[in-house]
Amino acid sequence: MQNDHIAELEKRINDLEGKFHYVDKLAGEVAHCRKTEEILQRRLEFEEIVTEITTGFINLLPGEIDPGINKALAKVGEFIGAERCYVFQFSEDGKGMSNTHEYCVDGVKSRLADLVDLPSAEYQWTLGQLREVGTLLVGGIEAFPAHAEHEKREFEQAGIKAFVVFALKIKEKLIGFVGFDWINKECDDLGYVVAHLKMLGLVIASTLERQRLESRREETIAELHKKQESLLTLSIRDELTGLYNRRHMEESLTREISRALRHKTSLAIIMLDLDYFKRVNDNYGHMAGDLVLVEVGRFLGERSRGEDVVCRYGGEEFVIIMPGASLEDGMKRAEDICREAPENIRVKYRDMNLPDITLSLGVAAYPEHGETSSLLLYNADNALYQSKKGGRNQAASA
Ligand code: GH3
Ligand code: MG
Ligand code: MG
Repeated sequence: MQNDHIAELEKRINDLEGKFHYVDKLAGEVAHCRKTEEILQRRLEFEEIVTEITTGFINLLPGEIDPGINKALAKVGEFIGAERCYVFQFSEDGKGMSNTHEYCVDGVKSRLADLVDLPSAEYQWTLGQLREVGTLLVGGIEAFPAHAEHEKREFEQAGIKAFVVFALKIKEKLIGFVGFDWINKECDDLGYVVAHLKMLGLVIASTLERQRLESRREETIAELHKKQESLLTLSIRDELTGLYNRRHMEESLTREISRALRHKTSLAIIMLDLDYFKRVNDNYGHMAGDLVLVEVGRFLGERSRGEDVVCRYGGEEFVIIMPGASLEDGMKRAEDICREAPENIRVKYRDMNLPDITLSLGVAAYPEHGETSSLLLYNADNALYQSKKGGRNQAASA
């Protein structure tokens, strides 16, 4: 009887133990489910953040890209609990890398200004991991292999507890990386974000590439404008004197005649030629002659008005177009120039003072001497010939 009782009790105890074990197992499973649910929830939230950043990046204008990246760093950093978030980019030759974007939580010092043009060669282990695997998570000093001595020392000196970095690649080429540091806090298990970090890396890399191409495009356009300008200058200017060339003068003259016709005004042209210029070349050399031409150009430029077109017609001949001027105005200007030239065109060459330069000038005016540029030039040239014939160093009217 007693034995039966004992057996009955043992059975009950066994049953109870079985039930306890079951309840314990159940509790364990519930906790596991909760943890999984939590992770899933975090992953979902992170996915949303990455999607939001990705969509935002597509619409960023070139000038908004840098602040956009800083904002994205802050968002991701806050979510994963990091304290310093950053982007590094390599220089063109890949030898240096600089911290270009940053977000720090309150109380963490910015390192942006210090981390400039660091030698990439000293980060071979980290960069190698990024090239091969795409991401690198370092949870403590022990993660560094022996050959990563420099990286280990820096990690210690910066007082970092853990960091995660992920690659920025364009066409398989590493162009930089994004990183997150934990300094005062411990880093949570980041397993659930790694895949998304890779995706974020892709988006940031392509956005940076877009910015690089955009700024290169702007530089190219600016360069092109500059080249066009200098080409234009070359095409309308005389190389030696910097005055307008003959082609530009002829175009200007045609335009000014049309304008004078429309506005019923006049215009005068002066054609002038240096007297006995051949002697300068013969006695002092071609270089001295060139210097004289430059000085004549400067002098004529100074004696003209804003609306005048002063040009080197060819050799040692010059033409001045004076829009709105009458024949009398033209004659007066020609006489002034003739009188002032010897005093004002002073050239010193190899310690020698070159003899006075005198000019012969011919003046023609629209409408009295013709209504086309060729006729006006022809008549001005005739007048110039009269001056030469009359003894040079003088002005004559057509
Ligand atoms: P005139 O009083 O009759 O005009 O005599 P000139 O000696 O000035 O005239 P000519 O036409 O005989 O000579 C013009 C000279 O100008 C000849 C040529 O060598 C020189 N010349 C033309 N272009 C240049 C130039 O660009 N540089 C130099 N140094 N000389 C030039
Ligand atoms: Mg001459
Ligand atoms: Mg001549």
